Amino acid sequence: MKPHPVFYNCDNCPSYCCSYTEIEVTFEDIERLALHLDADIDVVSRRFTMESKDPYTRVMRHFRDPVFGTACRLLDLETRRCKAYEARPTACRVYPGTSTCHYYQFLMAERRLQGKPKVAVRAYNLVQDSEMGRHPIERRDTAENSGA
Ligand code: SF4
Ligand code: SF4
Repeated sequence: MKPHPVFYNCDNCPSYCCSYTEIEVTFEDIERLALHLDADIDVVSRRFTMESKDPYTRVMRHFRDPVFGTACRLLDLETRRCKAYEARPTACRVYPGTSTCHYYQFLMAERRLQGKPKVAVRAYNLVQDSEMGRHPIERRDTAENSGA
C-alpha cells in the first residue's frame, strides 16, 4: 500500500515535539531503550523517565534545552536528533499521526516571515510557563536521577 503523503520534514525541524512535557513511555519502551543503550533497565528508567501526573504512567524526563526551555534527555542538543532513534518510545514513533504537523507549519511561516531559513522558534513551552511545572528540573535532578 502506498504511504500517505506528509507535509512536514522532521529533518528540517529542531525537534519541537521532543519538548512536549508528557511523552508517555511504557515498560516495553524502557526495556527496548535499555537494550539499545546497553544499560540497566532501572538506570534507564531513573535517568530518562519520570512519573507522570497520571497514575501508573511514566513520561520522558527532561533537561534544559536552550531552544525550547526543556526537552527530553535523549535529544542531542547539537544535532537536534534523538540519541536513541532506533529504540525510541512508541509515542515518538507514531507522532504526529497525521499528514501535517502544526508546529512545522508555524516554523515554516516564521522562517519565511523572518527571512531566516534555519531559525528555530519557540511555541508555548518556555521554562517559566506553567506547563513547565511538570518538569521542575532542579528538584527532580536529585537522587532519583543520579543514575547510580
Ligand atoms: S515537531 Fe513536527 S516536524 Fe518537528 S520533529 Fe516533531 S513531528 Fe517532526
Ligand atoms: S525519545 Fe527521542 S524521539 Fe522521543 S522525545 Fe526523546 S529525543 Fe525525542
